Order: sequence, then structure tokens, then C-alpha cells
Amino acid sequence: MMEPTPPESTARISGQRHAAGDLPSASPHVVDRREMALLAPYATFSQASRGRVHEEPWHPYRGPFQRDRDRILHSGAFRRLSGKLQVFTGNMGDYHRTRLTHTMEVASISRTIGRALELNEDLIEALALLHDIGHPPFGHSGESALASCLPAGQTFSHNRYALTLVTEIERPYAAFPGLNLTYEVLAGQTHRVDKDLSAHPTSLEAQVVDLADSVTYDAHDCDDAIKLRLLTLDDLCQVPLIARCVERVRVRFGELPSAILRRQVVHDLIDVQVADLIHHSRQQIATAGWQSALQAAESSIRLNHSPELCQEKQGLERFLYQHVYRHPELTRVRQDAQRRITRVVEHFTKHPEQLTEFFQRRAAANGPLETSVEYVAGMTDRFFDQLYQQLFPS
Ligand code: MG
Repeated sequence: MMEPTPPESTARISGQRHAAGDLPSASPHVVDRREMALLAPYATFSQASRGRVHEEPWHPYRGPFQRDRDRILHSGAFRRLSGKLQVFTGNMGDYHRTRLTHTMEVASISRTIGRALELNEDLIEALALLHDIGHPPFGHSGESALASCLPAGQTFSHNRYALTLVTEIERPYAAFPGLNLTYEVLAGQTHRVDKDLSAHPTSLEAQVVDLADSVTYDAHDCDDAIKLRLLTLDDLCQVPLIARCVERVRVRFGELPSAILRRQVVHDLIDVQVADLIHHSRQQIATAGWQSALQAAESSIRLNHSPELCQEKQGLERFLYQHVYRHPELTRVRQDAQRRITRVVEHFTKHPEQLTEFFQRRAAANGPLETSVEYVAGMTDRFFDQLYQQLFPS
């Protein structure tokens, strides 16, 4: 995406270093004025950004994290999320979430939480749109298939691949490879690669996106699984958190038709989790007394749900793992995807000359196996299916 060059009078160098967590001084820039008015001292301020690898002047009316959000939104990898399954496959109808709709739900829920906690919503949105961009076709089964293609000691991580995409593979600009995202967005995604949180300062915005990811999939996987008849709402009521939501809905609305009840329970499941997270996080913030983003990022206190809700969520996730994610129909799809992905990676490793020109150059530099894995990882489910048919006609 070509971006307008800011007029000289408003241009500032975003690569200019500020001590992380410094509060911005009075500034004429609309983004700074807005953030000064709306954000808490522990939020990540645009003016305190550590900048980009390739220095760029400030945009006249967008902040650095707004630009990052737009760069991610306009990337090819982001658009391809619409063709990647989240949990359920395209053969199971068109009601359930794709990786793209999941991402949009995470962005929306993250922003709600971020606004309530007076954090930087622009940074949150950029991180949310980025968080699943590195998923290969066929979800986690695709990920384990790609990992098993690599030699012992190497693995494939969709979180790490997201960083490769936005720093090397996406190339919308003439001046540099990648999207040249800010340090804060790259650091937030890096934290997803290695979740040893005590070793990595992590912005509150990145913590919120992680938590919102789990709020989102816990709710929509229940919805999708019932709609696809993998289980019933009665089955799910074995889980105390779901039973509690059903009871709240019944107290409020009385008996409801099953389709309305399902949707209402899913709404309630999001509400219960988000309200608990905001309430508990506010208590944590008040206790910690952070006065800067740096203090918050380096703190041993990490935003979280209340201990009671954490336990309830664990119960729900255990149930979903046993009864949905390991459902025989999904297991069959996963095993088939793994077999076919392995076959395609082996094909391109033997025939790197059949890769696109860009990936041929990467294969020459990084090796044909690693590059074939990267190439396949970028595909949508649909593209992969078509390619597989071309390579191995049945
Ligand atoms: Mg996700």
C-alpha cells in the first residue's frame, strides 16, 4: 500500500528513541492529544514507541499503531485468513468461524477490554489482527504436519511464522522488505512465540489480546460445535461455566427456542468472561499502582481473570478438547490434511524449481525444505486442495 508523504511541518522521525514508558509531552499531533486525554499512565503511548527498523516519518493524521493495523489489514497474508479453517472445515457448512472471522472477533473483544482499561486500542487492534496471521492451512493439524517435515531439533510455529511473514515475505513497499511494523507490535507477537512471561517484558495491550483470544475461541467453539451437531447444549451443561450461563439466560428470558437459547448462552459466555476480566484486571492495576507502560510490562503481575473464572475456563477447555477438538470427524480431516501436506512439502523440496520465483530465491538462501514449509504455510485450505489435485491427480 502506498502511503502519502506527510508535509514537512508535521513530519517526525518515528525511529527517534524514547525511554519506553515515557509519558508524551504536549504535542500538536492529533494522535498524541487523543491519547493524552484517553489513556491511563500504564498504557503504551504512540509517542513513546521505540520506532521501526527502517525509519519513517510520522504520518500527518495516523499514529504508528494505526499505520501498523492498516498495514496488516492490507496484507495478502491477512486476506488469506478467510480461506483458513479455525477448527471446523469448509466441508461442514458455512456457519462456523474461519480464521478471519475469529480474528475479527478477537479484535473486537480486545478493544472492548482495552477501552475499559484505558489502554491503547490502536496497538491492541494491530496485535489482534496480527495474532493468527501465521496459521498454515488446516489449522493446528497443518502446523504439526509442517513441524514433522523439519529435521529433529527444528519446529514450525505459526506465531514465529507470523513474524517471518511481516518482516520478510510480505513485500508491499519498494524501500524495504516486510511491513516495517513498530517495535511494540513485533514485541507483542514475539511474546506469543515464547510465553515464558517472566523473561519477557510484555505490554498490557499484548496481554489483553492473548486473554481475548481465549475468551473468543472458548465462546465460538461452543457455538459452532452445537450448530454442527458435534454435541448438544445439554452435553455442554456438564461444564459448570456453561451451566451458569444457561441459568442466567433462563432467569432473564425464561424458556427459549433452542437456536435462540444457544446464541444467548454464547453471548452470555462472552459477557461473563469479559466482565470478569475487566473487573479482576482493574483490581490488579489498582494493587500494582503502575505509573508507566514499562513498569507494567516488566511487572511480575500479569493481567488475568479471577482465579474462580480461570478454573471454570479450564473446565470448559478440557471438555472442548475431549469432546470437540478430538471428535472423530475432525480427527479424520486432520489426519488427511497431515498426509497431504507432508506429500506437498516433500514434492517442493525435491523440485524447488517449481516454487514461485520469490520462494526459489529463498530456497537458494535458506534451503529447499525450510522454504517448502514456508511456502505451504502461506496457503489457504482451498489453494492447497487445488494445488494438491494438480500435483497428484486422483
Ligand atoms: Mg486466535
